[in-house]
Amino acid sequence: MDPVLHLLLPVLFLLAMRIDMRKVLMFAPLAIFPDFDAVFELHRAVFHSFIPILILPIGLIIFSKLKRPEWMLSALLVQFFLASHIVLDLGGVAFLWPFVKDQMFFDPVVNFNLQGGVNFVIHFDYGWRPYVPMATTDFVSETGFAMIFLGMLVGIVFRREAWASIREMGRIVRGFFTGRA
Ligand SMILES: [Zn+2]
Repeated sequence: MDPVLHLLLPVLFLLAMRIDMRKVLMFAPLAIFPDFDAVFELHRAVFHSFIPILILPIGLIIFSKLKRPEWMLSALLVQFFLASHIVLDLGGVAFLWPFVKDQMFFDPVVNFNLQGGVNFVIHFDYGWRPYVPMATTDFVSETGFAMIFLGMLVGIVFRREAWASIREMGRIVRGFFTGRA
């Protein structure tokens, strides 16, 4: 999945859930962080493994619970953004790296046809396959482009709300630089 979708989908979800926009934007870069394992030529392995994706954030959540309750929302956002990356990459990730080098994959397939009535065929393709170092993805894939286009249409339909949230995000970004929230 391309970085644009990795960033947009979880951010929109959290904003729809009315989570503090300032905090959401602050941690949003974590949604694309795992793809930097491409730097080590072990893309979809090193930073897509359960250690950075589950163990470290759960450690942070437990630490917050015990010592720093005021960090809890941040710790949960760290976990959410990292986990969202793996969920969106389920087409193939070496989740148990470095213990298991194979990639786990999960591909829901929905077929629709009108032969002999209306038929929906949903089946799940899943399992493990040998590690394939996937090439870097396009910055914006076809699906990414479709989503942005859909977002623009929604923005036009709900222009008042869209403007209000753009202004709010602008205010937050200015707040980061000027030190005022
Ligand atoms: Zn990825």
